[in-house]
Amino acid sequence: METSAAALPEEGFLVLSTLPPSRAQKRLALVVLLGLLVTFILAAGPLSHVRVGDIVVFPPAYATAMLLSETITAVLLFGQFSIVRSWALLVISSGYCFTVFMLILWTLTFPFAGRGLVGGLQSPPYIYFYWHIRLPPGSVAAAIALSVAATAVLALVATYLFIAENTILPRLQLDVLLSNSLWRYGAATTLALTLAALVALWVRRRSILDLWLMVSLCAYGVEPWLTYPERYNFGWYAGKVFGFLSSSLILLVLLYEITTLYAQLLRAVLAQRREREARLMTGDAVAASIAHEVNQPLTGMIARANAGLRWLERTTPDLDKAKNALQHILADAHRAGAVVASVRAMFKKEARARVSLDINDPVAEALALAADDLSRHRVVVEIALRSGLARVVGDPIQLRQVVLNLIANAIDAMSAADATRVLSLRSETDGDGAIAVSVADTGVGIRPEEMRRIFTPLFTTKSGGMGMGLAICRAIIEAHGGELSAAPNDPRGATLRFVLPVDEATSAADAPDPWGARPLR
Ligand code: ADP
Repeated sequence: METSAAALPEEGFLVLSTLPPSRAQKRLALVVLLGLLVTFILAAGPLSHVRVGDIVVFPPAYATAMLLSETITAVLLFGQFSIVRSWALLVISSGYCFTVFMLILWTLTFPFAGRGLVGGLQSPPYIYFYWHIRLPPGSVAAAIALSVAATAVLALVATYLFIAENTILPRLQLDVLLSNSLWRYGAATTLALTLAALVALWVRRRSILDLWLMVSLCAYGVEPWLTYPERYNFGWYAGKVFGFLSSSLILLVLLYEITTLYAQLLRAVLAQRREREARLMTGDAVAASIAHEVNQPLTGMIARANAGLRWLERTTPDLDKAKNALQHILADAHRAGAVVASVRAMFKKEARARVSLDINDPVAEALALAADDLSRHRVVVEIALRSGLARVVGDPIQLRQVVLNLIANAIDAMSAADATRVLSLRSETDGDGAIAVSVADTGVGIRPEEMRRIFTPLFTTKSGGMGMGLAICRAIIEAHGGELSAAPNDPRGATLRFVLPVDEATSAADAPDPWGARPLR
């Protein structure tokens, strides 16, 4: 019966005919059931004979509301059947469809204002009981028998029997108001069928739909008992309300399910969009950072190659200088290779070989690599590298790249400003005992509102900028357990500063360098 649902686990998980009920839903179903029970006891007991009178608008309003609710429920359940293809769902949908046909007949035969449009006195009660014979869901044969076509045939039979031939039927209705005691047999049959359906559902009891069908059936089964023995007294009205509740309960559950699914769908679409953006961002970021990092050695290689060519093109070629240029090109090529590997490792979240090092070493190396650029831009360099600092653990290539990036940014910022260009490089122990390196310039400075954004990938204020340098620097420093920050320089420009934790393993063993300042390499 339910094998097709099991074969479609993806869809099956989403619809309430296959979703198991939560604890909260079970509790709510129990509360609704208790509410129905209390109402039933009151309506069938002390209040049943209270005469309310013929509220003229009630029967047509009831019929309309029932018709709408049953039609929408049938359509939604047929919709679920088309997704899950469970025969049990087809039976339930057909049941609702059948009720729609019978409701139309009941409305035509019910004696509104004393007389029905068609049929006779016995037509409405027979139609009423006939529509209450919704077959319990469970068997394939029942499912097929109760397809939409079959329900239409059943409705036609009812039309003939209960409308044209209603005078030959045993009398369920004594007059327009009073029912015959035979009514009880009809009510008992309905109750027995309801109980059978309840048992079938209880045995299956797998889904939210099963749970609420059980609650709905309870209201459905007791309804005929309330409407007996007289129309328009309190019990009769209560019975009609029970009938309406029983029909609209499944509709409410289906509507709730649709809203929940809609919310889930929205969340899933948004999450998918965010994930795609994040993936694009990573792709962009990797491409941009490799381009960014490789640009520097490439520019150096082109400059050296041009110089080498010039040495060779002289009338008496200077082979030593040309050889020197080639050696520089080789060194730059190795550097480019190392940089690419280090960027790849960063995005792969791979821990590259870390060593215990003196932070002044990568700083000095970066300074040496930037020396040409600095002198070309007529930058005065102030160096205050403290000797005897505690060692840090890190990747020397990555740390050198960080300083190189900070120096490159400082040069850019100072080229844009029309003032004396001073670059200050400083290393020291900061207040917390960590090692701090700062790169200060006298450039255009960073606007306060951009202080945080400059570290965001792809943020740049330069026409040819990529906006990756600082993002990479921050990622590297944070991967080393440190922090990178920016602040205004005094009197102008910016200071970029990073701190790194000291290498605990060596700092205890290392005594302060007794020789004081050590030469830069
Ligand atoms: P890019 O250099 O490609 O623009 P970065 O991530 O290195 O990318 O820098 C981002 C932005 O931060 C720069 O465009 C610039 O506006 C600002 N910035 C970085 N360093 C400095 C500095 N020393 N002085 C002024 N602005 C800076």
